[in-house]
Amino acid sequence: MVHNLYENVVVIGEGGSANSTIISGKGCTVIVDTTLFPEKARKIATFAKELFGNRIELIINTHYHPDHTFGNSAFEDIDILASEETKNFMEEMDTNYIKSVWGEERARRDHITLPSMTFSNKKRFQLCGYWITVRQLGGHTPDSSIVYLEDLGLIIAGDLIFNGFHPEITTDSDIDHWLEALSLIREYQPSKIVPGHGTPCGIEEIQLMKDYLLKFRGVLEGRIGENEILSDPNFVEREFPELFRYSVRSVLSKYPQRS
Ligand SMILES: [Zn+2]
Repeated sequence: MVHNLYENVVVIGEGGSANSTIISGKGCTVIVDTTLFPEKARKIATFAKELFGNRIELIINTHYHPDHTFGNSAFEDIDILASEETKNFMEEMDTNYIKSVWGEERARRDHITLPSMTFSNKKRFQLCGYWITVRQLGGHTPDSSIVYLEDLGLIIAGDLIFNGFHPEITTDSDIDHWLEALSLIREYQPSKIVPGHGTPCGIEEIQLMKDYLLKFRGVLEGRIGENEILSDPNFVEREFPELFRYSVRSVLSKYPQRS
């Protein structure tokens, strides 16, 4: 599904898959996140070129998770920018990991492509007529980064925000950092947000994500019972409820359960 966010910005994503954002400006285009599959990324590239008639100048990855980076090989002749930590995480991915994500057959025929340019902490630059800030905030994963387009008031939040879907809280998520990251995103006062998954949204989604994480922590700590979750629209109205159980299992495998 294609969401037209601004005249020159479209978001591609459907059914809960990771969003890819196409930002077109003066003479060139920037794409943020490349989906799980190189052939899907190639289709996005063709679509972007046909829609805007511009060359693709830069790819940005918000974090290392395969559904945001494994399409990178469709853009091997283009600069790919990510945090240093994202590149490090991807460097550590071995054949077994790639097979576990893609399956044997695809892992044999396709390959992953690492970022070719990195930043640490924060970088602000001008490209395609926009001032672009990339900033690593951590939380969902240690390398989770946002992309801020100040001329548009747009933040591409990666998986720090899930809209309409349960968030994926993994073994390397840090809920305290995630909550801080959400406060920092709010400080930018964005007029629009592209979440990692789900339809583009407004600033109100930041609070819903915070409420979710706070309650999630309450469940883990035994302060909040299952009934409270089952009556909360912020939980029951999100799709992929199996992710909630996955997240609980992930976090509990990291910390010993409190008695
Ligand atoms: Zn993710």
